[in-house]
Amino acid sequence: MDVVSPAMRSRMMSGIRGKNTRPELIVRSVAHRLGLRFRLHREDLPGRPDVVFPKHRVALFVHGCFWHRHDCGLAAKPKTRPEFWETKFKRNVQRDAAAKRLLEEAGWRVVVVWECETRDQAVLRARLQKQFRLGTSDASPRQDGRALQFTGASCIECAIEQPSRRRPLDTLPQE
Ligand SMILES: [Zn+2]
Repeated sequence: MDVVSPAMRSRMMSGIRGKNTRPELIVRSVAHRLGLRFRLHREDLPGRPDVVFPKHRVALFVHGCFWHRHDCGLAAKPKTRPEFWETKFKRNVQRDAAAKRLLEEAGWRVVVVWECETRDQAVLRARLQKQFRLGTSDASPRQDGRALQFTGASCIECAIEQPSRRRPLDTLPQE
């Protein structure tokens, strides 16, 4: 199953680094359900991390496997114009490394979640728990069993800032 919409695919292929990509929304949703509080796309930080956890001083990037050259099946090289792609990929990887170094120098811990790691939310959840040194017993089973719901480009979980204002999913307006 293709996890990205044709529109998203075409944006990916155009080389624009998207905000609020589906893998990013999944990471935010899982983090949110773990009780982690975060900020998005802090422009003032090197590399503009996708998700920032100020309390833990963690800067998290959600990297597309293709653009950021993950060593997995999703990073297959395009068959045409090899030099063009090589240059592009090299630039991305160098930019990632530079941002990581600058963030670490400023006292941030850098966490990279690869696109392919967002396919299994249970695994992703376990990884974030470990990354943030969270206990494993505090999760409510009801929340665990609840399906991720997306409305257009926004994630319901993350759109709701205050847990007290949270309503059952079926009463939320559909956009
Ligand atoms: Zn990957």
